[in-house]
Amino acid sequence: MIEPDLSGRSVLLVGTGRSRLPVLVRLLTAGAEVTVTGCADDLVAVHQDLSLLAAQNGLTPSTEWALLANRLLDLTYLEPFAAVTAVPKAALVVCVPRDDEEETFWADQCRRLGVLFRAERPLPAGVALVGGGPGARDLLTLGAVAELRGADVVFADRLGPAAVLAELAPGALVVDVGKDPGHHRVPQERIEELLVAFGQSGYRVARLKGGDPYVFGRGGEERRTLLENVVPVTVRPGISSAISVPAAADIPVTCRQVSTSFTVLSGHQVPEDSVLEGLVKVGGTLVVLMGVGTLPPLLAGLRRAGLPADMPAAVVENGYASDQRVFTGTAANLVELAAVHKVRSPAVFVIGEVVRLRDELLEVATAARIRLDPEPPLAPEVHGGSGVRSTSTRGTSADTGDAEAPGTSADSSPEVVAATVPDSVDLSAFETPEMHTELSGFTIGITASRRATDQANAFLRRGAQVITAPTLAITPTEGDTELLTETALVIENPPDLLLVTTGHGLNGWFEAAEAAGMGEDLRSALTGTTILVRGAKARGAVRAQGFSDAGISADDSTTSLVDVALAHGVGGKRVAIQQHGVVDHAQMARLVAAGADLVTIRPYRWVKPEDPKAVSTLMASVIRHHVDVLTFTSAPAAEALLTTAKEEGLYELLLEAMRTEVTCVAVGPVTAAPLVAAGIEPLMPERHRLGSMIRVVVDHLNDHAIDQAQTRCGAVALRGVELLIGGERLTLPPHLADLLRVLVQADGDVVTRASLRRALPAGPSDHAIDMAISRLRKIIAPHNLVVTVPKRGFKLASV
Ligand code: SAH
Repeated sequence: MIEPDLSGRSVLLVGTGRSRLPVLVRLLTAGAEVTVTGCADDLVAVHQDLSLLAAQNGLTPSTEWALLANRLLDLTYLEPFAAVTAVPKAALVVCVPRDDEEETFWADQCRRLGVLFRAERPLPAGVALVGGGPGARDLLTLGAVAELRGADVVFADRLGPAAVLAELAPGALVVDVGKDPGHHRVPQERIEELLVAFGQSGYRVARLKGGDPYVFGRGGEERRTLLENVVPVTVRPGISSAISVPAAADIPVTCRQVSTSFTVLSGHQVPEDSVLEGLVKVGGTLVVLMGVGTLPPLLAGLRRAGLPADMPAAVVENGYASDQRVFTGTAANLVELAAVHKVRSPAVFVIGEVVRLRDELLEVATAARIRLDPEPPLAPEVHGGSGVRSTSTRGTSADTGDAEAPGTSADSSPEVVAATVPDSVDLSAFETPEMHTELSGFTIGITASRRATDQANAFLRRGAQVITAPTLAITPTEGDTELLTETALVIENPPDLLLVTTGHGLNGWFEAAEAAGMGEDLRSALTGTTILVRGAKARGAVRAQGFSDAGISADDSTTSLVDVALAHGVGGKRVAIQQHGVVDHAQMARLVAAGADLVTIRPYRWVKPEDPKAVSTLMASVIRHHVDVLTFTSAPAAEALLTTAKEEGLYELLLEAMRTEVTCVAVGPVTAAPLVAAGIEPLMPERHRLGSMIRVVVDHLNDHAIDQAQTRCGAVALRGVELLIGGERLTLPPHLADLLRVLVQADGDVVTRASLRRALPAGPSDHAIDMAISRLRKIIAPHNLVVTVPKRGFKLASV
């Protein structure tokens, strides 16, 4: 349905106008070799224009978006007159036509030459309010897909199926206006202002929402505001969670003879008793959305209104996600059930006789020996945040164990739990701040290449912004002749000792050997070999391959592994060492000096990153202090960052930032070594594991990076770029957050323009400071937090 397999195929993109940009990026994302007619300038102009529009509205586009400009410049462009001659060489011609005539022209050319042709009609300028369904990709409508494919700009919500954006709208400028429950991250008026601003700009904007835009989605208000501002606006309905999420738990919202009506309630405000009495009298199914926070008073009210205590009730959390959970009980114990299992938003509550049908269905299925497993998803799950929530809780290794959401089941199959709960429960579970705000406002830079996604997901799930820039890439050397030669040497002349440095490397080696048909021979060659391992992971891999080791290094370093080897004695022996990434020449030299006949095996190598621009972007963000924490999980990556900085003349600036404002965190001492040598003092977890490192980051930021002050507007807190004021969470543009931080740290004292200039990394002019203060005031209005002190400067409105 989405895109035919275009990888490696040559596609000619013809046509005119702005809408070529999203089409082009989609084709590139699908792996096509694209040639574009016209010049680069007009596409780059569209990109720049949108970037400018974003900047003017205080939005910071993603790194991918920023890097798109370079991708555009790197493409092959053809003079329009030459385009016709390029048709026969193309596997497919895609046309974004200005009018019928243009489309017919290209369609005829292609027909004549027997080349596949596709027209992509541009969507008109304006806004589409798009229902994204409850989070599963296969519950998007065709209309929604068309809108995303044609969108220049997407405004995405927390519950929308945001993960599909990378696939369906890779060339769109994506703005995340998602809200966290209880805290409107971007206030509704601001969202509407943005929709109007972008809607009036001549672009196509998709406002992607969870479920249906008109079911508790504020779609009505947005449509009205847009029409008042003369912006064309369409609505693309979506599948509402009110009906589909119960269905995901085998609960039909109506059923003949059981329930002939259903009412969808918002838990946002508990209705008055008289209304609840009416609802109970109707006797149909009650479906409650947004009810996690207000379940206790709602159920108390319903019980007062006469709802029987034994009325079946259920809660479905994270419907359609791999960590979907379902709990069933009764009106009497639903509150406890939700509290005990720490049910979190998003969740749908269902109260009514229909809930019984779920159990009946389960019974029937059991009798018929049919497993009521969830439908296999047609496509990966697409839930949550910026579309980056982990796709499964299954198979996470011990490393990321504590990076997982509390309360999620270890198994990814939906959990079914009978309604047995202890007598006393702690209802404060409802009040505990949700994990996904633990890091909100903060930005984490990630230098890892391996498992960078796991790491990024762990931070994103906690609400952080993430910049990933692998400073090195690992290339597997499967099919690599050098590795196969090394393997052949081992088979021909089996080693007495094998030193295994990484589990990953050992597995890679065996896989490569197997693929080359040398697996069996390699295994039998190693049967008499004494194996020594560096660390628990290497030991695990050796055992998993059916071997056992004769010794393990004292710590995780190659040095201590070589110590063990020397203790075993290597003189006159044939010693094979499996290398990891960089070669530790000093340790090789120790083995040779002790008389070892050395063979090295390099199953994978570190190479320069595929995307050096991402590294430059990361360095620039660190230097501007727009990154709060920078993480390191391998020594070569740490080394590579410093080397790249030297090459780009940024070493001093980068070091200065990493020694002061930007906290560096390393997974262990080996990784930290190159940083320490450069005079940086990274934080380190006690257990050298990814999960523990993530905990260190969370604790550090929460303990040391939140600036607070008591003001006339109440308590305010600044966490990275996020301002907590009057129960609201506002995300500020980074330079305004920096400015405000200086004022908050001064705690009510006057800060002069001169000291603001000195304190800010960009060293702004007085005029720029005044402009920034006025923008800041606008964003945080109606709070009157920043006071001008005539002739002196600014201060916080003190108590
Ligand atoms: N317009 C949306 C509803 C927005 S209100 C719709 O039509 O579905 C947000 C609420 O929807 C959440 O608090 C939760 O109650 C519910 N919800 C949305 N997606 C959900 C999901 N995948 N699983 C459980 N509840 C969901």
